[in-house]
Amino acid sequence: MGCSKSSSSNSKGSKVEKELKTEDKSKEESKESKESKDKKEEKKETDDANKEPVINPNIDPNKPMIALTFDDGPSNTGATARILDVLAENNGHATFCVLGYLIGGHEDVINRAVAEGNQVIGHSWSHKDLTKLTDAEIRAELNDTANAIEAASGTRPTMHRPPYGAVNDTIKSISKELGFSIINWNVDARDWKTKNADATYTAVMRDVKDGCIVLCHDYYDSTADAMARIIPELTAQGYQLVTVQELLSFSEHKAEPGEVYFNR
Ligand SMILES: [Zn+2]
Repeated sequence: MGCSKSSSSNSKGSKVEKELKTEDKSKEESKESKESKDKKEEKKETDDANKEPVINPNIDPNKPMIALTFDDGPSNTGATARILDVLAENNGHATFCVLGYLIGGHEDVINRAVAEGNQVIGHSWSHKDLTKLTDAEIRAELNDTANAIEAASGTRPTMHRPPYGAVNDTIKSISKELGFSIINWNVDARDWKTKNADATYTAVMRDVKDGCIVLCHDYYDSTADAMARIIPELTAQGYQLVTVQELLSFSEHKAEPGEVYFNR
């Protein structure tokens, strides 16, 4: 179930890679972010039917932020709900990349995640390597999962995370056609490998930095154990824990369908 395959090889060559930045550029971006936020709020008032993901108005674009992402759930053991509890206690949010086949019977936790300001996106229906499927199979993996998330939560995702981070031109082109940005990561908790709370804690606390997207798995109880420490500590260190949607809304490139993102 691990998602590690391309975490090191996939970090080059995308326009989203540009490392942030000079101080002046930061200011410019903050201004842009605010303008774009204002625009979004305007749009929301005039278009209630379009359930655009909400950007938390309490986020300060000038303070550091991190997007924690949790793959392979919803958990059968309650780990997803435990992570939601810790997030709520710390006024933090995260992105849950769920498997379509696990949604049935767990609609309540998906609905809760979205209702509490988190983001839920698809991680395919069956966790197959999408680059090995036919176009029709890829469309079904992405669309069926998005449909199930929408049915459970009332919000249709505009992003997805491919299993193993595996992406090629076909995946990009189908994602663009279906309206999904592709979300990978630049920090790997390696919880899928260690399945150990202390090791997960150490890996995350060592590698996080402003603007990163962290790969974790709510599939493991050890990850929920680690998050009980990680989430309060990152918050105490001044990091804002935000959704990927929020993180990318505070970047110069925003989230475009068919584009691959590893960080802000
Ligand atoms: Zn996965």
